[in-house]
Amino acid sequence: MTLPTLPSGGPRLLLRQMREVMAEGVSGQERLDKLVRMIAANMVAEVCSVYLLAEAGDLELFATEGLNPAAVHATRLKVGEGLVGTIAETAESLNLSDAPAHPKFAYRPETGEDPYRSLMGVPILRAGRTLGVLLVQNRTHRHYTDDEVEALEIIATVLAEVVASGEFSAASGVALRERLAPVNLHATGLADGIAVGVVVLHEPRIHVTRLIAEDVEAETGRLEAAIDGMRASIDAMLHEADANLAGESRDVLEAYRMFAHDGGWLRRLREAVVTGLTAEAAVERVQNETRARMLRSKDPYWRERLHDLEDLANRLLRHLTGDVATASKQALPEGAIILARSMGGAELLDYDRSRVRGVVLEDGTPTSHVAIIARALDIPMVGRAERLLERAEPGDLIALDGATGELHLRPTADVVRVFDEKLALHAQRRAQFHALRNEPAITLDGVHVRLNINAGLMVDLPNLDETGADGIGLFRTELQFMVAPTMPRLKAQAALYRRVIEAARDKSVVFRTLDLGGDKILPYGPRNVEANPAMGWRALRIGLDRPSLLRYQLRALIAAAEGHVLSVMFPMVAEVAEFVEARRLLHMELDRAQGAGKRMPSAIRVGAMIEVPSLVWQLDQLLPICDFVSVGSNDLMQFFFAVDRSNPRLTDRYDLLSPSLLRMLRHVVETADRRGVPLGLCGEMAGRTLEAMALVGIGFRAISMPPASIGPVKLMVRSLHASELQALMEELYDEPEHSLRPRLAAYASEHNIPL
Ligand code: PEP
Ligand code: MG
Repeated sequence: MTLPTLPSGGPRLLLRQMREVMAEGVSGQERLDKLVRMIAANMVAEVCSVYLLAEAGDLELFATEGLNPAAVHATRLKVGEGLVGTIAETAESLNLSDAPAHPKFAYRPETGEDPYRSLMGVPILRAGRTLGVLLVQNRTHRHYTDDEVEALEIIATVLAEVVASGEFSAASGVALRERLAPVNLHATGLADGIAVGVVVLHEPRIHVTRLIAEDVEAETGRLEAAIDGMRASIDAMLHEADANLAGESRDVLEAYRMFAHDGGWLRRLREAVVTGLTAEAAVERVQNETRARMLRSKDPYWRERLHDLEDLANRLLRHLTGDVATASKQALPEGAIILARSMGGAELLDYDRSRVRGVVLEDGTPTSHVAIIARALDIPMVGRAERLLERAEPGDLIALDGATGELHLRPTADVVRVFDEKLALHAQRRAQFHALRNEPAITLDGVHVRLNINAGLMVDLPNLDETGADGIGLFRTELQFMVAPTMPRLKAQAALYRRVIEAARDKSVVFRTLDLGGDKILPYGPRNVEANPAMGWRALRIGLDRPSLLRYQLRALIAAAEGHVLSVMFPMVAEVAEFVEARRLLHMELDRAQGAGKRMPSAIRVGAMIEVPSLVWQLDQLLPICDFVSVGSNDLMQFFFAVDRSNPRLTDRYDLLSPSLLRMLRHVVETADRRGVPLGLCGEMAGRTLEAMALVGIGFRAISMPPASIGPVKLMVRSLHASELQALMEELYDEPEHSLRPRLAAYASEHNIPL
């Protein structure tokens, strides 16, 4: 083991001296002044300075030994400017025997630094954030050794904790955090709604309060015990994962295990303890260094692995401090807005809904499970908020708009005022929708349009009464599977379906059988790598190839529906033969239940989703053997235009309101009407007012949408003259335009139809 050695006493002696200074009851500024003097003496340097991140992200000289004292709180550099700014920007140390020769050198006459040639500077890092820069300078062309750089980095680790604890608020009159600039981001809206609240980190940062070891041997013992504990818990999780098939989480756990046994990582932790840090401070220090190194790597593999290593370091810190893993286990402040890198759907459900006002993720896409659940819970959510975690502090004020993706961290008073107005407007609109709750969705010319909600979890059920919807037009059964840690057993499946039927009372519920595959992956299921997962082995294709899985689910549905109407719908039917086979499996299960003397559903209704264009051309064969059909416009659109629904580059390329797609939908309506088979549509388009208006114009009389859309769509329906619009649309199908959107929007505006 090679330990850093310093000219006069090394870091252990210096750390001991620092501990004494930190225990003194002096002001933050006095303490910092003493510390720079002490560091300069220990490192035999003529200058030692500390720059801290201050207002508007500038680096401000906070303390110096050797430079002109008048420059303190006067000299400022931008991040990226000069050598100090470069160290802050790159989070990398610099070791220069001829600093003025460096291309980034920026001369600041007020500091009086002319005579100093050599410079060694290190970032002051904490939890992935740069708080400032610590540097020493000498007159001579001194070559600082690697050990000296390492010693200065260890000292910076201690300084980081001192700075983060707010020690220096007295120096500047305001807490550093409050002096940080506002951050405005255009992220991605994932769940509609406006929220202003305070930041709560989903994974709370661990506050290392003991930094300098009193007894190195005891610290080594604590570190070893924590490493053993962490390894044992990873092994236990892997063991559990084994019992639940293979999956993505297993790969992550394997990565944890690999790092937990990585010789280099462990050696560096042990070395940091031997130099005089506590076990916790050693973890922080090694993680800071690793993070900087991995972020510099060009190899995406290593940058990806950084997430795993961060998680592992946090786990180790939790073993040392006994802190809880996620904020859901803590008392939340009023109006909490949860910030996370990513989050599983089940993790969001762990929170006390009454206290969560919003969620912001650094990852996250509209089809992610957590977004679906946020919409069901009516929690505004924004995703793809790049680098927000490193810039936010718990308790910061944050404002978000879940419709537009607009995000303001530490908003200015003006922004808060705008958001207050938005909130008031939102509340007003909600009150308007709420008042309409028990009113029917009938057009001005007396056409009744059934408005149903899409659902999939227990949390969705209250929405049925709250929105006054006619029923559940699409119950996505796969959601229960996606949020569960293990495959739900027959009893659990049946229990959920029964609760749904009971909650719906006399309203209808359409259960869609499992639509897995594509972007719907089970945490515990096998991972099939497919070139085109959306067009791959998914939904009914899996159900027919693995009939035991589908029959198991059908059994649960039949058991749950005893004495009630059971409506079952099959997803991704591409040809009539598939529907016939699926229906045969349903009847096998019905026969089985009957044979076993079970109480049966009062009636069975079997339907197919129209999501694959091929089925549109077999409607005359399908409809006579169907009780109902429902268009899945999300998938139908992607297959119709050959446009991957998860590819953001193509999101706006084709329009749902194109004459070609609308004409196909009209063909479906006409055929279903001619055959007298009930038809609905349950894709996201049903929830957008203009699209919903077009659907009514085409002839749809039942549509199913996210619960939050019921109010706006009902308001639109009640202001519409359906036959007039239908007549207008008949003329538009032949237009060669890219989209009928402008024409339809103009019609709505001319007829005062609220969108
Ligand atoms: C659809 O494809 O339109 C649909 C409702 O199903 P999902 O979004 O669950 O694929
Ligand atoms: Mg679909």
